[in-house]
Amino acid sequence: MPLSEFALIQRFFCNQNTKSKSTRIGIGDDCALIAIPDGYELAITTDTMVENVHFFAGTDPKDLGHKLLAVNLSDLASMGAKPLSVTLALALPSVDESWLAEFSSGFLALAKRYSVDLIGGDTTSGPLTLTVQALGLVPRGQALLRSTAKAGDFIFMTGKLGQAGLGLKIRQGYNCSNPEAALTRFNTPYPQVETGLELLEIANACIDISDGLTGDLGHILEQSQIGACLDWDALPLSEEVLAYIQATGDWTMPLVAGDDYELCFTVSPEKAAKLTIDCQKIGIIQSESGLRLNKSGRIQPLQVKGFEHFSI
Ligand code: ADP
Ligand code: MG
Repeated sequence: MPLSEFALIQRFFCNQNTKSKSTRIGIGDDCALIAIPDGYELAITTDTMVENVHFFAGTDPKDLGHKLLAVNLSDLASMGAKPLSVTLALALPSVDESWLAEFSSGFLALAKRYSVDLIGGDTTSGPLTLTVQALGLVPRGQALLRSTAKAGDFIFMTGKLGQAGLGLKIRQGYNCSNPEAALTRFNTPYPQVETGLELLEIANACIDISDGLTGDLGHILEQSQIGACLDWDALPLSEEVLAYIQATGDWTMPLVAGDDYELCFTVSPEKAAKLTIDCQKIGIIQSESGLRLNKSGRIQPLQVKGFEHFSI
């Protein structure tokens, strides 16, 4: 007999999570209750992953559990919020116990790493659809926004660009001689939570690279009503991404590919001089609107469109 809804929740999602002192009531009642410390604001975000839209059918369920939580924690990281707790809504086509065991182990292992409590959720039958809502704490008035970049700021990013995009190309059949790092980034990204916290009081604006650098930086430019110029030679591209560009001629891939979950942020030159965070300076914010690319001394305009659902 398949597990009932409640037995399933009990078995896979109840026992394994730690409990922070903010969690007054976790899984089991109609709502969870969390205490918000004085002087803090609650940062709230939701991301859904749908089979065949956000992930391939047959994706390793442990990786899926990890990535579902990681993409939500990445949104908290980009605001400089400390992850507190999450809810998890699952639509499952059937109760597959080994799938659920793997999925919950990937999810809860990452939750444990960031001391995040799973405090509730919903479980229904339906096409495989996974939704997390994540809650985080940020000192009142200090959250890192998209709308506050200033002309003259330097643009930085953490990590490497286009790794997950290359991972996707590999999944789609591109033959890479050294595919491991790209596939790992695509399958199991890590959110830049610690960096987000360090950027409080340093960065003027911040975003996580989920839909591609040009699209995501484009959000900062639009909301801050300014422009920018990126420096091609400064982009942190791995040898494998450079080899991909060489082989295919597709040099825009790292600029437009999503799923890296690195942070892109802007810092004034004064503060940039004292920056100790491991990151790469990739461009500059300018008062002239639009996004430009300096490619070996030639300045060319860049489209600021990232991935969007419903657009062809
Ligand atoms: P209700 O009918 O009041 O919405 P449910 O029967 O859906 O409550 O859920 C019972 C409890 O289990 C609630 O506390 C809910 O938050 C929690 N829950 C349901 N599904 C999940 C899940 N996938 N992960 C974690 N908690 C869950
Ligand atoms: Mg319910």
